Amino acid sequence: MQILRDIASAREFIRAQKRGSKSIGLVPTMGALHQGHLSLVSRCAAENDVAVASIFVNPIQFNNPGDLAKYPRTLERDVELLTSAECSAVFCPSSEEMYNTQPLISISFGALDKILEGEFRPGHFSGVGIVVAKLFNILQPDAAYFGQKDYQQFLIVQQLVHDLSFPLNLVCADIVREPDGLAMSSRNQRLSPEQRKQAAMLFQVLSETKAHLGKRPLSQLKSEATQKLSTVGIRLEYLELAARENLSILLEYNSDIASLLLIAAFVGEVRLIDNLFV
Ligand code: AMP
Repeated sequence: MQILRDIASAREFIRAQKRGSKSIGLVPTMGALHQGHLSLVSRCAAENDVAVASIFVNPIQFNNPGDLAKYPRTLERDVELLTSAECSAVFCPSSEEMYNTQPLISISFGALDKILEGEFRPGHFSGVGIVVAKLFNILQPDAAYFGQKDYQQFLIVQQLVHDLSFPLNLVCADIVREPDGLAMSSRNQRLSPEQRKQAAMLFQVLSETKAHLGKRPLSQLKSEATQKLSTVGIRLEYLELAARENLSILLEYNSDIASLLLIAAFVGEVRLIDNLFV
């Protein structure tokens, strides 16, 4: 596997692949890789001639400096995992390489970046949009793979691809979960053993709420969820039902609208998100 640490060598690698008419798939990540990431890489490798992963903890998408500082970084192990996942190359630039000056642009995604993650993490999606556009320009993928785990991010990237006419296919892949239902996340590494057990409650709450949709008022289901989580000290930030198409918030379940439940909560000081299609 090729390790590409700067933009010039990444462009050279991509040019060589394109000269050989190879199709390129890209899996953007922030590293501290787990099976969720690796499932994206395997799919990417199966569907493209060349699978490229990127590992970059993007400073401009962190609204909380503590979260950025504590974000797990395990590059050596990540490289080993990618090598055994049939990844052809990894692009792992430094912050200085990606941003030799602070970007002056910002990107607005209309209503989509004002709600849910956008409401609680101001500036987050502008940072995501900028880094993803840079990765697409540098690595020129024919297909890019994102996880449903970050469903709002997937819709943001879909809008970016549409509005800026990036010539690529976007794939939204299923969430990979631990045996107890907890969605795999790099941030899970920061949980104590006790918190790790409690964190499974996010998926339980999503599943229970889904099971009761349409049978009890949504407002009641939300307050039951808040209470259940607070008994083990988990602070719910939001639990919402929204349309899959554009994440417009639904006040009550409607079987005619394809929807999903989304949750964000603090387990100790670690903020976790998850979602479940309804
Ligand atoms: P991250 O490193 O957290 O930025 O994630 C990189 C990509 O992996 C994103 O597209 C995520 O949605 C995806 N991803 C993260 N966790 C999971 C998971 N548990 N299952 C599937 N995909 C995931």
